[in-house]
Amino acid sequence: MRYRTILLFGAPGSGKGTQGKIIGQIPGFHHSASGDIFRTLDLQSEVGRKFQEYAGRGELVPDEFTVSLWKQFIKGMEYVNQFHPETELLVLDGIPRSLKQAKLLDDTLDVVAVIYLRADLSKMVERLRRRALKENRFDDASDEVIRRRLEVYERETKPVLEFYPREIVHQIDATMSQIRVLHEIVKILVPLKEEHDGHDGLDADVEPVRPLSAGASAGPDGKPADNGAVPAKAKV
Ligand code: ADP
Repeated sequence: MRYRTILLFGAPGSGKGTQGKIIGQIPGFHHSASGDIFRTLDLQSEVGRKFQEYAGRGELVPDEFTVSLWKQFIKGMEYVNQFHPETELLVLDGIPRSLKQAKLLDDTLDVVAVIYLRADLSKMVERLRRRALKENRFDDASDEVIRRRLEVYERETKPVLEFYPREIVHQIDATMSQIRVLHEIVKILVPLKEEHDGHDGLDADVEPVRPLSAGASAGPDGKPADNGAVPAKAKV
């Protein structure tokens, strides 16, 4: 099956990761960030060394390799019951990052929205510098690498926007406060999630409230003592 997917799109430093992590906490959404997957690789392994080599120069890891690694990873998440494509929307961050990747992923992703976080490049540089200091990110350690990453974004990644129908691309000003950016994203996500759940307004992973049984007893305030509600299932 093709995964119903929302792409978080934008330059490095646009806030995709921050927003993606928050959205990934909402029941019914699964956040997957390619950069985070790469960073979990053992840097002594061949695969890990390959990542370090490219990311350290501010370049993209080759397309086929990236897509096949990501596909293996997401399948693994399904197998270990961490990702439930029937009930969850996939929120992708950092992938596809080139037209070639978008094409290679087309058999796997049913992209229903592209959320494009826009900001001018000087703002991005400032954020990336701050993050490099805070998170010890070797790929943003020098201005030279930051500049290269932003160039690669303009040249390789931006054309991805052309791959998807214009009507599903939503632009958001990434320089607004984080909570406002989140608000704008949530406004886009709500109808998509309800549609995925089947228009009934119920979260697919929350059991419906059972109707009152005929003999339900009333509490001291006249309201039923137990309305038979089933507690919401925790997200597994
Ligand atoms: P950021 O959030 O700053 O945009 P990421 O954490 O997504 O950066 O990625 C860090 C590095 O990992 C990238 O500079 C690149 O080298 C590599 N990488 C991540 N995703 C991809 C991808 N889809 N294709 C190729 N390389 C990638």
